[in-house]
Amino acid sequence: MPFEYDDQNIFAKILRGEIPNDTVLETEHSLAFRDIRPQAPIHVLVIPRGRYVSFDHFAQEASEAEIVDFVRAVGEVCRMAGVEADGFRLIANAGKHGVQDVPHLHVHILAGRSLGRMLS
Ligand code: 5GP
Repeated sequence: MPFEYDDQNIFAKILRGEIPNDTVLETEHSLAFRDIRPQAPIHVLVIPRGRYVSFDHFAQEASEAEIVDFVRAVGEVCRMAGVEADGFRLIANAGKHGVQDVPHLHVHILAGRSLGRMLS
């Protein structure tokens, strides 16, 4: 089934500059900004600039340049977060069961407090 991208999603609006954001990192193919409802002292979202719904969509259709740029952007935000925090957690929700609210690929980077054990 082809991936369908909704150009009206909130992160598409952020990328078009229609909604303000608290940017922490900008690269050629990616943007990182603070989550509007932070769940930890550090809560940053990293998104590709391209029109990708989810991680699997991105992995299938993004160019190598986009993939390298995105992975490096996530790593750079982790490094920045690690300076002031003891570790971090990455989360990428997808679809209904993943409880993804915004249908544009995003990785959550959480840090700055103990995040508890998610998997047993
Ligand atoms: P999801 O459930 O899709 O993985 O997470 C979406 C995230 O986007 C949530 O953590 C939510 O707080 C965040 N968010 C929703 N709208 C906005 C917005 O307009 N600006 C920012 N910075 N974050 C948003």
